[in-house]
Amino acid sequence: MDSDEEGEEYLFKIVIIGDSAVGKSNLLSRYARNEFNLHSKATIGVEFQTRSIEIDGKEVKAQIWDTAGQERFRAVTSAYYRGAVGALIVYDITRHTTFESVKRWLEELNTHSDTTVAKMLVGNKCDLENIRDISVEEGKNLAEAEGLFFIETSALDSTNVKKAFEIVIREIYSNVSRKVL
Ligand code: GDP
Ligand code: MG
Repeated sequence: MDSDEEGEEYLFKIVIIGDSAVGKSNLLSRYARNEFNLHSKATIGVEFQTRSIEIDGKEVKAQIWDTAGQERFRAVTSAYYRGAVGALIVYDITRHTTFESVKRWLEELNTHSDTTVAKMLVGNKCDLENIRDISVEEGKNLAEAEGLFFIETSALDSTNVKKAFEIVIREIYSNVSRKVL
């Protein structure tokens, strides 16, 4: 978290984690640039994109990090998590193995974070209802058990993408304002 002299500007680091090909990069490009790629290739190396929203008349910047392919080799480093105050843990509603991995991602996140992290469990690809493998109920139950927010999204048709990120950003903001007060 950073704030300028007037305390009117905030910068929050948010990380996106989850198995390969669940749609992490597309969720980010949809939110930050309103773009979607059908055949996005994972490029190696960490990347982030920034988007600002206004809360209480203040500019709140989210610096959102993408694993950019590192997750394929289970090589997401501690530097990736450092300073993160928010996280989206993503699975693909059509692939059960990606849902089973959520706990491992959470453990990794918890191991590397030393502060309160606002966490959202994201069931992506909800446009693929006909080949759904994880019910909404299963997602909700896991989120409740682990103390996470929960949402289903589609980076393809934009369903709930903005909402997923902005619930997290607003939660971080409210965590921070509570601390400041
Ligand atoms: P990442 O490896 O988690 O970053 O996943 P990508 O964003 O690269 O997406 C992997 C594949 O899933 C790509 O072929 C995307 O086009 C596709 N994809 C991503 N999000 C969605 C979605 O919401 N719906 C559908 N149908 N496909 C998606
Ligand atoms: Mg990616």
